[in-house]
Amino acid sequence: EARIEADYTAGLRRAGPREEAEPVLAGGVAHHSWRMSPFPVVFARGSGGEKWDVAGRRYIDLWMGHGSLMLGNAHPAVVEAVAKQMQLGQHLGGAHVMQYAWAERIRELVPSCEYIRFTASGTEATLLALRVARAWTGRPRIVRVDGHFHGWHDEALAHALPKKQSGLNPGVDEFITLVPPLDTGAVLDELAERDVAAIILEPGGGSAGSLPWSTQYLATLRRIADLHGALLIFDEVISGFRYAPGGVQALAGVRPDLTVLAKIAAGGMPGGLVGGRREVLSVVSGGLSAVNEPVHVVHAGTFNGFPLSAAAALATLDLVADGTTQATAERVTCTLVAGINAAAEAADLDVRAIHQSSIFHLLIGALDAGDPISPGTAAIRLLRERAADYATLRRALLLEGVDCHMSHGWLSIAHDGPLLDEAIGGFERAFARVRE
Ligand code: PLP
Repeated sequence: EARIEADYTAGLRRAGPREEAEPVLAGGVAHHSWRMSPFPVVFARGSGGEKWDVAGRRYIDLWMGHGSLMLGNAHPAVVEAVAKQMQLGQHLGGAHVMQYAWAERIRELVPSCEYIRFTASGTEATLLALRVARAWTGRPRIVRVDGHFHGWHDEALAHALPKKQSGLNPGVDEFITLVPPLDTGAVLDELAERDVAAIILEPGGGSAGSLPWSTQYLATLRRIADLHGALLIFDEVISGFRYAPGGVQALAGVRPDLTVLAKIAAGGMPGGLVGGRREVLSVVSGGLSAVNEPVHVVHAGTFNGFPLSAAAALATLDLVADGTTQATAERVTCTLVAGINAAAEAADLDVRAIHQSSIFHLLIGALDAGDPISPGTAAIRLLRERAADYATLRRALLLEGVDCHMSHGWLSIAHDGPLLDEAIGGFERAFARVRE
């Protein structure tokens, strides 16, 4: 560990922040997961599945914009669409023609999104979905699944953090109930006993797919929600357009009341949306709730439906609409995962990779802990318990020209070809470093 940290510090120093950058950026970065001690690698540009740091070192990019880039960075069709829109003005301070085209395209691909409201990010979209659900049902409570991620607003983090240290609203836990993953009994109890507006979950698995999705689980939640008049909200920020053009809801044949989309849905640009039943989403323009009370949900946002994001989204959605993009990215991910596992076994390391669709997870210490290597293995717990080992592996990977999140990565069609072998080679060499 110490040696890899020293190698990282010496080897990548020129790729670290300029001396004067530290005091300017709080924490040295703009997202907590980009932190890396003693400095983060600072990137300057990216293209397809590759990127370069400020010192000119090249990396295979397995971050893919936190999963928002299914076509790789700077895909020519996306660059052209955004440049064209930029010539026409980036913000016209009002309803914009691209927003209607964007919404129609989303509805074509995800038919449950009968009515759509754009936001500027996935976090804002889950915030809006919960607000809409409360207004529509006239009920206060939300049921959330433990380990599923819905962004960084207070309600999305309720129960997850100590209130005083984290600065979260001290009262936020009161109206949010956490239930264990895949436990329909706990949801049933909660909905039977309390005034629940909605259950929100990542239907594709918790936190970027570390838990398996199950048609039966989703179908049962649909029945329970209907039985008790609660809304079912699918957060498909990760799975939307990545697992399938119609998302997990198309694969499972389960129609949610509301769907949250972002990332690929916004063409790898800032943006998100809530789509769903027309009468439910009508609460943003006033009218009556499910219990016939007047409602009007406030929803503003300077960058909602941002024209440049709309342009990128329309170009991207055209290219992911027929399912071949998803199939290619998944095939590439299967090969990468097999390569990582073979390399880990050869190096006799307790590291295994699993994947769902084109997202893979790294499990460190799962064999040691006696966990079965399956998609159900608790990647989140391992990440917490073996944080130092994950950080060491990440440094070793960066030294070998591979960048992925501490415990997971996303692939794209840009990884099909020589980059894939290079990525596997990078893992082999990183494992050798860890073994030394
Ligand atoms: N929901 C899920 C499932 C996510 O993975 C994320 C982000 O990674 C969000 C919501 C929040 O989206 P954003 O980062 O655009 O605010």
